[in-house]
Amino acid sequence: MNILIMGAPGSGKGTMSRLISENFGITHVSSGDLFRQNIKDDTPIGNQAREFIEQGLLVPDDITIEIVKERILEFDCEQGFLLDGFPRTSFQAHAFERIEKQINRPIDLVINLVVDRELLVKRITGRRMCPVCSSIYNIFLSPPKVKGVCDKDGRTLLQRPDDTLEALSVRLEQYDTHTQPMLEYYRERGIVKDIDGSGGVEPVWKQIKELMERLNAQE
Ligand code: AMP
Repeated sequence: MNILIMGAPGSGKGTMSRLISENFGITHVSSGDLFRQNIKDDTPIGNQAREFIEQGLLVPDDITIEIVKERILEFDCEQGFLLDGFPRTSFQAHAFERIEKQINRPIDLVINLVVDRELLVKRITGRRMCPVCSSIYNIFLSPPKVKGVCDKDGRTLLQRPDDTLEALSVRLEQYDTHTQPMLEYYRERGIVKDIDGSGGVEPVWKQIKELMERLNAQE
């Protein structure tokens, strides 16, 4: 099955993608993770993308389409892929339609996580990560035992540069301008399922798991 997972920043795309991937054996492809890895590895793409990402802006379409296309063509995506964070603009969606046709792997399902703004802001601006073990905390919703320090290894927790309130305002604006309208394109194809993403991990996961089990049973 080929799936897109969509939703505003903080809607839980990353968490749900990991669960889908683990439980259904589908390869998770996150455009944001691809960029962050390129930045970490100091590649030319990473250097081009860094400035946009830190300001909360979208990386230009041509760079983004190229990096995702390359990843989708790898062998572990042959049995299905779960795209997280791509496409994010109508231009990307149309470019991806051509890729879908080229590789003959159409999107079967678009999971759209719906979360209200106030909660999105809390989830993103409160998010902190351990640079060593990658554990995620939230200073409002799931704080570490000791302020600013990872429970598992005692390292100082970090905030992603694009998780500040300033960068988040830009990211939300980009979402409203470019990504939200793009969803209509998939709605017209009749493959979008809206999921209430405002609960904790368990209730949101339950909805997605049941949806996917239903779809698998129909295949
Ligand atoms: P994410 O982890 O999905 O929130 O992505 C982090 C950042 O990477 C975004 O704020 C953008 O700057 C960039 N990015 C990720 N995916 C895309 C995309 N499909 N188009 C443009 N920029 C993207």
